[in-house]
Amino acid sequence: MGKQTVLVTGGAGFIGSHLCLRLFDEGHHVICLDNFFTGRMENFGRRYQDLVLSGRFEFVRHDVTEPITLEVDQIYHLACPASPVHYQYNPVKTIKTNVLGMYHMLGLAKRVKARILQASTSEVYGDPQVHPQPETYWGHVNPIGVRSCYDEGKRVAEALMMDYHRQHKLAIRIARIFNTYGPNMAVNDGRVMSNFICQGLRNEPVTVYGEGEQTRSFCYVSDLVDGLIRLMRSDTVEPVNLGNDREVSMLELVRTIEKLLGRRLKIEHKPLPPDDPARRRPDLTRARKLLGYEPKVALEDGVRETIGFFRKELGIQET
Ligand code: NAD
Ligand code: UDP
Repeated sequence: MGKQTVLVTGGAGFIGSHLCLRLFDEGHHVICLDNFFTGRMENFGRRYQDLVLSGRFEFVRHDVTEPITLEVDQIYHLACPASPVHYQYNPVKTIKTNVLGMYHMLGLAKRVKARILQASTSEVYGDPQVHPQPETYWGHVNPIGVRSCYDEGKRVAEALMMDYHRQHKLAIRIARIFNTYGPNMAVNDGRVMSNFICQGLRNEPVTVYGEGEQTRSFCYVSDLVDGLIRLMRSDTVEPVNLGNDREVSMLELVRTIEKLLGRRLKIEHKPLPPDDPARRRPDLTRARKLLGYEPKVALEDGVRETIGFFRKELGIQET
């Protein structure tokens, strides 16, 4: 595939910033669109000046709940706050971002005949009763809970994607992303990885919700970006799980961070938030078979990198 003009919505966010840089480094013209709710220019760090001076990287401040006209070949649609703290801050806005945002991006893709990839989520499976979760599982989602603005919003977005494909023959790609972590996560975003690492670095007790037996499967951001790009380039219309299939409990995550910090951490148990899924692990059979996808970064290595990032963010020296 030759050089393309690629729109990344939510491009200044955690995953979006890594994706924009990867696409730019591959020689594409990148349009990074964001409303800067959770995203920030600092995510481009030292690269910022290079990007802007190159003439093939543009920032557009825009909110996807409003329509926009652009000429592009591909759209990676990531705009949406991902952490429960952020998406529950203004849940009506989260639904509008998921539904109206998707609708506007599909309208744009249809007009310019662009290929569009939606950043969907493992949350479409809700609190799953099938384990691990294959793409064929329809999920177990509370339609009226505090997570519904995100979960149901993403499910509507998938339905819209499929209908634009069936009705208008749009080239769609649906990535069901499982918990992803790494540098550029926001210190205050409330997700478990940023909370535990920042608490550990500040010598504060780590806040384990519930007993800490609930599980997640954590994917390092470079693996995820590799999966997104592979999916965009494939001809796979059906949804594909992307993540890492090593499953750990929250207590095991605390132990991993302790090992890397070289000291024991105090644990403070807090109540489990409502509708918190008890366990989550992607079935990656489809991604492996159709995309040749394989997550490569071990949890210990990814967490070490992420600790290094938060150390700098918090200005905490290594002792
Ligand atoms: P993030 O919050 O860092 O990034 C989201 C970006 O979207 C931010 O830059 C934010 O400012 C922007 N944004 C939010 N609402 C917008 C709007 N209305 N208009 C324009 N821009 C808007 O989160 P992330 O972790 O990078 O997640 C990126 C995408 O991946 C999201 O769609 C999220 O749902 C999905 N995802 C992430 C994970 C994960 O573990 N990180 C898991 C599953 C799905
Ligand atoms: N969690 C925790 N302590 C925290 C933040 C989160 O124990 O300080 C737990 C949370 O209850 C959930 C898991 O960690 O079971 C992952 O939470 P996160 O918000 O990162 O993502 P999600 O629930 O969306 O997978």
